[in-house]
Amino acid sequence: MADIRKIGFIGIGNMGSPMAGQLARKGFALTVFDVNVPNATAFANEYGARVAGSAAQAGEGADAVIFMLPDERVVRHVLFEEGLAQAMPQGAIAIDMGTSAPASTRKTGAELAERGIGYVDAPVMGGVVFARDASLDIMAAGDTGQIERCRPMFAAMGRKLWLCGELGSAHVLKAMTNYINACTFINTLEAMVIGRKFGLDSALMAEAIDAMCNGRQHPVVKKVMPHVLTRKYGTGMAMQLIAKDVKIAVDAAQSVGAAVPLGELTAQLWHAASEQLGGTRDHSEIVRYWENQTGAEL
Ligand code: NAD
Repeated sequence: MADIRKIGFIGIGNMGSPMAGQLARKGFALTVFDVNVPNATAFANEYGARVAGSAAQAGEGADAVIFMLPDERVVRHVLFEEGLAQAMPQGAIAIDMGTSAPASTRKTGAELAERGIGYVDAPVMGGVVFARDASLDIMAAGDTGQIERCRPMFAAMGRKLWLCGELGSAHVLKAMTNYINACTFINTLEAMVIGRKFGLDSALMAEAIDAMCNGRQHPVVKKVMPHVLTRKYGTGMAMQLIAKDVKIAVDAAQSVGAAVPLGELTAQLWHAASEQLGGTRDHSEIVRYWENQTGAEL
Protein backbone atom coordinates (compact mmCIF):
# COMPACT_ATOMS: atom_id res chain seq x y z
CA MET A 1 0.00 0.00 0.00
CA ALA A 2 1.22 3.47 -0.92
CA ASP A 3 2.57 5.90 1.67
CA ILE A 4 0.21 8.60 2.85
CA ARG A 5 1.14 12.02 1.45
CA LYS A 6 -2.10 13.84 0.69
CA ILE A 7 -4.34 14.41 3.71
CA GLY A 8 -7.79 15.93 3.97
CA PHE A 9 -8.18 17.39 7.48
CA ILE A 10 -11.74 18.17 8.59
CA GLY A 11 -12.32 20.14 11.81
CA ILE A 12 -9.78 22.96 12.29
CA GLY A 13 -10.90 23.78 15.84
CA ASN A 14 -9.03 23.99 19.15
CA MET A 15 -7.41 20.58 18.70
CA GLY A 16 -7.56 20.17 14.94
CA SER A 17 -5.65 23.36 14.24
CA PRO A 18 -2.45 22.49 16.19
CA MET A 19 -2.63 18.83 15.10
CA ALA A 20 -2.97 19.71 11.42
CA GLY A 21 -0.22 22.29 11.95
CA GLN A 22 2.18 19.52 13.03
CA LEU A 23 1.33 17.52 9.88
CA ALA A 24 1.95 20.57 7.67
CA ARG A 25 5.28 21.30 9.39
CA LYS A 26 6.37 17.75 8.79
CA GLY A 27 5.76 17.90 5.06
CA PHE A 28 2.33 16.30 4.50
CA ALA A 29 0.21 17.95 1.79
CA LEU A 30 -2.93 19.21 3.54
CA THR A 31 -6.36 20.21 2.31
CA VAL A 32 -8.45 21.50 5.21
CA PHE A 33 -12.15 21.99 5.69
CA ASP A 34 -14.23 23.51 8.50
CA VAL A 35 -17.71 25.00 8.54
CA ASN A 36 -15.98 27.90 10.30
CA VAL A 37 -14.47 29.20 7.07
CA PRO A 38 -12.38 32.06 8.58
CA ASN A 39 -10.60 29.56 10.87
CA ALA A 40 -9.84 27.18 8.01
CA THR A 41 -8.62 30.05 5.83
CA ALA A 42 -6.41 31.49 8.58
CA PHE A 43 -4.88 28.06 9.09
CA ALA A 44 -4.30 27.57 5.36
CA ASN A 45 -2.63 30.97 5.07
CA GLU A 46 -0.32 30.26 7.99
CA TYR A 47 0.74 26.79 6.84
CA GLY A 48 0.44 26.96 3.06
CA ALA A 49 -2.37 24.40 3.01
CA ARG A 50 -5.30 24.28 0.56
CA VAL A 51 -8.82 25.13 1.74
CA ALA A 52 -11.61 22.89 0.44
CA GLY A 53 -15.04 24.33 -0.33
CA SER A 54 -16.77 21.27 1.13
CA ALA A 55 -16.03 18.12 3.10
CA ALA A 56 -16.34 16.08 -0.10
CA GLN A 57 -13.73 18.26 -1.81
CA ALA A 58 -11.30 17.65 1.07
CA GLY A 59 -11.58 13.93 0.32
CA GLU A 60 -11.04 14.08 -3.45
CA GLY A 61 -7.72 12.45 -4.32
CA ALA A 62 -6.75 12.13 -0.63
CA ASP A 63 -4.72 9.20 0.67
CA ALA A 64 -6.26 9.80 4.10
CA VAL A 65 -8.92 12.00 5.67
CA ILE A 66 -8.63 12.93 9.36
CA PHE A 67 -11.62 14.06 11.43
CA MET A 68 -11.18 16.27 14.49
CA LEU A 69 -14.89 16.97 14.87
CA PRO A 70 -17.15 17.30 17.93
CA ASP A 71 -18.59 13.77 17.93
CA GLU A 72 -19.67 10.71 15.94
CA ARG A 73 -22.87 12.35 14.69
CA VAL A 74 -20.90 15.05 12.91
CA VAL A 75 -18.45 12.46 11.55
CA ARG A 76 -21.30 10.42 10.06
CA HIS A 77 -23.01 13.54 8.72
CA VAL A 78 -19.84 14.63 6.92
CA LEU A 79 -19.19 11.16 5.50
CA PHE A 80 -22.64 10.09 4.45
CA GLU A 81 -24.71 13.26 4.07
CA GLU A 82 -22.13 15.67 2.70
CA GLY A 83 -20.79 13.25 0.12
CA LEU A 84 -17.33 12.64 1.55
CA ALA A 85 -17.56 8.82 1.45
CA GLN A 86 -18.45 8.97 -2.26
CA ALA A 87 -15.65 11.43 -2.96
CA MET A 88 -12.82 9.51 -1.28
CA PRO A 89 -10.80 7.22 -3.56
CA GLN A 90 -10.93 3.46 -3.02
CA GLY A 91 -8.01 2.38 -0.84
CA ALA A 92 -7.99 5.67 1.11
CA ILE A 93 -8.29 5.70 4.92
CA ALA A 94 -10.62 7.76 7.09
CA ILE A 95 -9.36 8.38 10.65
CA ASP A 96 -11.55 9.66 13.47
CA MET A 97 -9.19 11.35 15.95
CA GLY A 98 -12.00 12.98 17.94
CA THR A 99 -13.78 11.41 20.90
CA SER A 100 -16.69 9.46 19.43
CA ALA A 101 -19.03 6.70 20.59
CA PRO A 102 -17.48 3.28 19.83
CA ALA A 103 -20.66 1.57 18.57
CA SER A 104 -21.00 4.25 15.91
CA THR A 105 -17.33 3.81 14.99
CA ARG A 106 -17.88 0.10 14.30
CA LYS A 107 -20.99 0.83 12.21
CA THR A 108 -19.18 3.51 10.20
CA GLY A 109 -16.19 1.19 9.65
CA ALA A 110 -18.43 -1.53 8.24
CA GLU A 111 -20.17 0.92 5.91
CA LEU A 112 -16.89 2.36 4.64
CA ALA A 113 -15.40 -1.11 4.13
CA GLU A 114 -18.20 -1.82 1.62
CA ARG A 115 -16.91 1.14 -0.40
CA GLY A 116 -13.26 0.00 -0.19
CA ILE A 117 -12.32 2.72 2.31
CA GLY A 118 -10.41 1.89 5.50
CA TYR A 119 -11.39 3.22 8.92
CA VAL A 120 -9.29 3.73 12.02
CA ASP A 121 -10.28 5.27 15.36
CA ALA A 122 -7.36 7.22 16.81
CA PRO A 123 -8.52 9.52 19.63
CA VAL A 124 -5.99 11.59 21.54
CA MET A 125 -5.19 12.43 25.14
CA GLY A 126 -3.35 15.57 26.10
CA GLY A 127 -5.40 18.59 25.07
CA VAL A 128 -4.35 21.73 23.25
CA VAL A 129 -1.05 22.16 25.12
CA PHE A 130 0.27 18.76 24.06
CA ALA A 131 -1.21 19.06 20.56
CA ARG A 132 0.92 22.20 20.12
CA ASP A 133 4.17 20.42 20.93
CA ALA A 134 3.23 17.12 19.22
CA SER A 135 3.33 15.15 22.45
CA LEU A 136 -0.20 13.74 22.40
CA ASP A 137 -0.89 10.18 23.45
CA ILE A 138 -2.66 8.60 20.48
CA MET A 139 -4.79 5.47 20.90
CA ALA A 140 -5.37 3.57 17.66
CA ALA A 141 -7.69 0.70 16.75
CA GLY A 142 -8.68 -1.16 13.62
CA ASP A 143 -6.85 -3.12 10.97
CA THR A 144 -3.15 -3.28 11.87
CA GLY A 145 -2.04 -2.77 8.25
CA GLN A 146 -4.09 0.42 8.06
CA ILE A 147 -2.71 1.64 11.38
CA GLU A 148 0.85 1.03 10.15
CA ARG A 149 0.09 3.18 7.10
CA CYS A 150 -1.06 5.94 9.47
CA ARG A 151 1.96 5.61 11.79
CA PRO A 152 4.02 8.46 10.19
CA MET A 153 1.05 10.83 10.64
CA PHE A 154 0.61 9.76 14.25
CA ALA A 155 4.36 10.19 14.87
CA ALA A 156 4.07 13.74 13.54
CA MET A 157 1.35 14.59 16.10
CA GLY A 158 2.06 12.49 19.17
CA ARG A 159 4.65 11.03 21.52
CA LYS A 160 3.23 7.52 21.88
CA LEU A 161 0.91 5.23 19.96
CA TRP A 162 -1.26 2.89 22.03
CA LEU A 163 -2.42 -0.04 19.91
CA CYS A 164 -5.84 -0.98 21.27
CA GLY A 165 -7.19 -3.80 19.07
CA GLU A 166 -10.46 -4.04 17.17
CA LEU A 167 -12.04 -1.00 15.52
CA GLY A 168 -13.79 1.13 18.15
CA SER A 169 -11.67 -0.02 21.09
CA ALA A 170 -9.51 3.12 21.01
CA HIS A 171 -12.69 5.18 21.37
CA VAL A 172 -13.60 2.97 24.35
CA LEU A 173 -10.21 3.55 26.00
CA LYS A 174 -10.43 7.29 25.39
CA ALA A 175 -13.90 7.49 26.95
CA MET A 176 -12.73 5.43 29.96
CA THR A 177 -9.66 7.59 30.61
CA ASN A 178 -11.70 10.78 30.39
CA TYR A 179 -14.34 9.24 32.63
CA ILE A 180 -11.69 8.43 35.26
CA ASN A 181 -10.19 11.90 35.05
CA ALA A 182 -13.61 13.55 35.24
CA CYS A 183 -14.52 11.55 38.37
CA THR A 184 -11.16 12.24 40.00
CA PHE A 185 -11.53 15.95 39.34
CA ILE A 186 -14.97 16.15 40.98
CA ASN A 187 -13.89 13.82 43.77
CA THR A 188 -10.89 16.07 44.51
CA LEU A 189 -12.99 19.24 44.55
CA GLU A 190 -15.57 17.57 46.78
CA ALA A 191 -12.85 16.56 49.25
CA MET A 192 -11.14 19.95 49.19
CA VAL A 193 -14.42 21.72 49.98
CA ILE A 194 -14.81 19.52 53.05
CA GLY A 195 -11.25 20.47 54.03
CA ARG A 196 -11.97 24.17 53.59
CA LYS A 197 -15.03 23.87 55.82
CA PHE A 198 -12.64 22.60 58.49
CA GLY A 199 -10.27 25.52 57.82
CA LEU A 200 -7.59 23.76 55.77
CA ASP A 201 -5.59 25.89 53.34
CA SER A 202 -6.43 25.14 49.66
CA ALA A 203 -2.82 25.31 48.39
CA LEU A 204 -1.64 23.01 51.17
CA MET A 205 -4.42 20.53 50.36
CA ALA A 206 -3.60 20.56 46.63
CA GLU A 207 0.08 19.88 47.34
CA ALA A 208 -0.70 17.15 49.87
CA ILE A 209 -3.25 15.47 47.56
CA ASP A 210 -0.69 15.47 44.75
CA ALA A 211 1.89 13.82 47.03
CA MET A 212 -0.51 11.33 48.64
CA CYS A 213 -2.88 10.38 45.81
CA ASN A 214 -0.71 10.55 42.65
CA GLY A 215 2.54 8.94 41.54
CA ARG A 216 3.48 5.93 43.68
CA GLN A 217 0.24 6.39 45.66
CA HIS A 218 -2.09 6.33 42.63
CA PRO A 219 -4.55 3.41 42.82
CA VAL A 220 -3.48 2.09 39.40
CA VAL A 221 0.19 2.02 40.45
CA LYS A 222 -0.31 0.91 44.03
CA LYS A 223 -3.29 -1.42 43.73
CA VAL A 224 -4.41 -2.38 40.24
CA MET A 225 -1.03 -3.37 38.79
CA PRO A 226 0.62 -5.08 41.79
CA HIS A 227 -2.42 -6.56 43.57
CA VAL A 228 -5.49 -6.77 41.31
CA LEU A 229 -4.00 -7.92 37.99
CA THR A 230 -1.66 -10.34 39.79
CA ARG A 231 -4.46 -11.52 42.13
CA LYS A 232 -2.06 -11.14 45.05
CA TYR A 233 -4.54 -9.05 47.06
CA GLY A 234 -1.74 -8.16 49.44
CA THR A 235 -1.82 -4.42 50.11
CA GLY A 236 -2.04 -5.12 53.83
CA MET A 237 -5.18 -3.06 54.45
CA ALA A 238 -8.54 -4.67 55.07
CA MET A 239 -11.72 -3.67 53.24
CA GLN A 240 -13.50 -2.73 56.47
CA LEU A 241 -10.77 -0.20 57.31
CA ILE A 242 -11.20 1.59 53.96
CA ALA A 243 -14.99 1.46 54.43
CA LYS A 244 -14.49 3.06 57.85
CA ASP A 245 -12.24 5.81 56.44
CA VAL A 246 -14.69 6.73 53.70
CA LYS A 247 -17.44 6.88 56.32
CA ILE A 248 -15.29 9.24 58.42
CA ALA A 249 -14.95 11.54 55.39
CA VAL A 250 -18.69 11.48 54.69
CA ASP A 251 -19.63 12.03 58.36
CA ALA A 252 -17.12 14.89 58.54
CA ALA A 253 -18.69 16.48 55.44
CA GLN A 254 -22.19 16.14 56.82
CA SER A 255 -21.14 17.59 60.20
CA VAL A 256 -20.17 20.86 58.47
CA GLY A 257 -22.99 20.85 55.90
CA ALA A 258 -20.75 20.11 52.88
CA ALA A 259 -22.36 18.32 49.93
CA VAL A 260 -20.70 14.96 49.41
CA PRO A 261 -22.64 12.96 46.77
CA LEU A 262 -19.67 11.00 45.41
CA GLY A 263 -18.54 10.26 48.95
CA GLU A 264 -21.97 8.91 49.93
CA LEU A 265 -22.07 6.59 46.91
CA THR A 266 -18.48 5.48 47.54
CA ALA A 267 -19.30 4.69 51.18
CA GLN A 268 -22.31 2.61 50.07
CA LEU A 269 -20.18 0.66 47.58
CA TRP A 270 -17.41 -0.12 50.08
CA HIS A 271 -20.05 -1.18 52.62
CA ALA A 272 -21.87 -3.42 50.11
CA ALA A 273 -18.60 -5.01 48.95
CA SER A 274 -17.52 -5.66 52.55
CA GLU A 275 -20.85 -7.35 53.23
CA GLN A 276 -20.61 -9.50 50.10
CA LEU A 277 -16.91 -10.43 50.20
CA GLY A 278 -16.03 -10.13 53.91
CA GLY A 279 -14.69 -7.01 55.63
CA THR A 280 -11.41 -8.62 56.68
CA ARG A 281 -10.41 -9.32 53.04
CA ASP A 282 -7.67 -7.17 51.53
CA HIS A 283 -9.30 -4.05 50.12
CA SER A 284 -7.81 -4.67 46.65
CA GLU A 285 -10.12 -7.67 46.44
CA ILE A 286 -13.03 -5.24 45.94
CA VAL A 287 -12.46 -5.87 42.21
CA ARG A 288 -14.38 -9.13 42.71
CA TYR A 289 -17.49 -7.09 43.59
CA TRP A 290 -17.53 -5.72 40.01
CA GLU A 291 -16.46 -8.97 38.44
CA ASN A 292 -19.28 -10.82 40.21
CA GLN A 293 -21.82 -8.36 38.85
CA THR A 294 -20.57 -8.14 35.28
CA GLY A 295 -18.99 -11.53 34.56
CA ALA A 296 -15.94 -9.70 33.19
CA GLU A 297 -12.50 -10.54 34.55
CA LEU A 298 -9.68 -7.99 34.73
P1 NAD B 1 -13.75 22.38 18.60
O1 NAD B 1 -15.19 22.68 18.78
O2 NAD B 1 -12.75 23.43 18.96
O3 NAD B 1 -13.46 21.95 17.08
C1 NAD B 1 -14.38 21.24 16.30
C2 NAD B 1 -14.37 21.86 14.92
O4 NAD B 1 -15.24 21.15 14.08
C3 NAD B 1 -14.86 23.32 14.92
O5 NAD B 1 -13.87 24.14 14.31
C4 NAD B 1 -16.15 23.28 14.11
O6 NAD B 1 -16.39 24.45 13.36
C5 NAD B 1 -15.89 22.07 13.23
N1 NAD B 1 -17.11 21.47 12.68
C6 NAD B 1 -18.28 21.20 13.31
N2 NAD B 1 -19.17 20.64 12.45
C7 NAD B 1 -18.52 20.54 11.26
C8 NAD B 1 -18.91 20.05 9.98
N3 NAD B 1 -20.12 19.54 9.76
N4 NAD B 1 -18.00 20.11 8.98
C9 NAD B 1 -16.77 20.65 9.19
N5 NAD B 1 -16.36 21.14 10.37
C10 NAD B 1 -17.23 21.08 11.40
O7 NAD B 1 -13.48 21.02 19.40
P2 NAD B 1 -12.07 20.43 19.89
O8 NAD B 1 -11.80 20.89 21.28
O9 NAD B 1 -11.04 20.66 18.83
O10 NAD B 1 -12.43 18.88 19.99
C11 NAD B 1 -12.55 18.05 18.83
C12 NAD B 1 -12.67 16.61 19.28
O11 NAD B 1 -11.51 16.25 20.02
C13 NAD B 1 -13.87 16.31 20.19
O12 NAD B 1 -14.36 15.03 19.91
C14 NAD B 1 -13.25 16.37 21.58
O13 NAD B 1 -13.99 15.61 22.52
C15 NAD B 1 -11.87 15.79 21.32
N6 NAD B 1 -10.82 16.21 22.24
C16 NAD B 1 -10.73 17.49 22.69
C17 NAD B 1 -9.69 17.84 23.55
C18 NAD B 1 -9.54 19.27 24.05
O14 NAD B 1 -8.74 19.47 24.99
N7 NAD B 1 -10.22 20.25 23.48
C19 NAD B 1 -8.74 16.89 23.94
C20 NAD B 1 -8.82 15.60 23.43
C21 NAD B 1 -9.87 15.26 22.58
